[in-house]
Amino acid sequence: MSEVSRQQEGSLSDCVPVCHACGLNMRETVLKISYPKGTLPVRGFVCLNCGYEVLSFEDAEEASETAEKLGLLEPETVLTGEITESEEQVVLHIPKDIERRFELKKGKKVKIYTKGEEIILMPV
Ligand SMILES: [Zn+2]
Repeated sequence: MSEVSRQQEGSLSDCVPVCHACGLNMRETVLKISYPKGTLPVRGFVCLNCGYEVLSFEDAEEASETAEKLGLLEPETVLTGEITESEEQVVLHIPKDIERRFELKKGKKVKIYTKGEEIILMPV
């Protein structure tokens, strides 16, 4: 048996939780966590007797990080910026609050993502 598969077996049997209500070992399953803008499949455990579902702290943390990356969470801040034109280029005016928070200055680069009808800016 390889080192890797032994480690996996070890960690699996270590973290199989027991149902608080029934005292039975819970079965590993895929849970769906709902976020404001969608659901995410996450590894979790279910009690086959009563249907109680749990997920580990690590898996929950990882799920919320993934949800944030995928844009499933509500935005923290919603502000309106105005678009104008300068020398035939479109210019987006970013509100002062966001400018200060992300230390945006002339010449600073941002990545521009599109997702459906949304445009997402990420300072680099
Ligand atoms: Zn149970």
